[in-house]
Amino acid sequence: MRTIGLIGGMSWESTAVYYRELNRLARERLGGLHSAEIALWSFDFAEIETLQAAGDWDGATARMVDAARRLERAGAGCLVICTNTMHRMAEQVQAAIAIPLVHIADATATAIRASGSRLPALLGTRYTMEQDFYKGRLRQAHGIEVLIPDEPDRTTVHDIIYRELCLGVVEPASRRRYLAAIDALAARGADGVILGCTEIGLLIGQADTALPVFDTTTLHAEAALRTALEDAPVGDGPRPRLSRPG
Ligand code: GLU
Repeated sequence: MRTIGLIGGMSWESTAVYYRELNRLARERLGGLHSAEIALWSFDFAEIETLQAAGDWDGATARMVDAARRLERAGAGCLVICTNTMHRMAEQVQAAIAIPLVHIADATATAIRASGSRLPALLGTRYTMEQDFYKGRLRQAHGIEVLIPDEPDRTTVHDIIYRELCLGVVEPASRRRYLAAIDALAARGADGVILGCTEIGLLIGQADTALPVFDTTTLHAEAALRTALEDAPVGDGPRPRLSRPG
């Protein structure tokens, strides 16, 4: 098993989901007491959010490249950036290391294709919805076009991420606002919905909407575990051997 290098803390609310999912999936796949080998670099998110809000993407890229190199030096065999937004600098991060980066948009695209959805909606931070790094990757590498919310829904979706979900606050009223935004996108032709921010799964899930839901956090964790276990045997591993006294 390769050690999975996680760049997390953006926010730690979603990194905790990655940690649990990766370990749960490793146990499911390998059986017994198996769990995932993980090295984690966890940022102080206030520092990262300040760079984002100031539009200092060069500064943010330098921090991400530094974290990736630390994880590679620590023995990581593959790298996972635990946020959609910070895939803005995925190319620069990949260019700075020799281990593979498991791209969150690629993991998401595989699920979209398998579902047959042709025009999914994309919910995420303003950066992910409006800039081209994420939509461009889906379009150019996978031929997938997405719909993003109109204003004021875009601002609502963005603000709830930073003011509530990244702080661990899950409000029923915010869930209703997200579902209203999804309804508006469905009326414009969306036939699926990408939870394109790693905290949105804390607020809504497949049970909340009739549209197929693509939760980037769990899809990304699954892809990361597949990469980590590429050479590992499939199926239940041996049962744990318990040591006996005497
Ligand atoms: N975790 C979020 C994402 O997936 C937002 C936090 C961030 O700006 O990184 O985009």
